[in-house]
Amino acid sequence: MEDQTEHVCIICRHVKQEGIRVVSQFICEDCEAEMVHTNAEDAKYRYFIHQMRQISMQTHL
Ligand SMILES: [Zn+2]
Repeated sequence: MEDQTEHVCIICRHVKQEGIRVVSQFICEDCEAEMVHTNAEDAKYRYFIHQMRQISMQTHL
């Protein structure tokens, strides 16, 4: 039984069906794959950290 629920990715803001959940937030498979290949000095990594901090703040509210 497949889960056809759509989620809004917190990184790219696109609506996707496939991806992972992190602290009740959703990251699509494309962004997840990109994260794996992203260098720590890359701007996208800093952007990701920024997004993760927003998640943390939401979680602590
Ligand atoms: Zn995404």
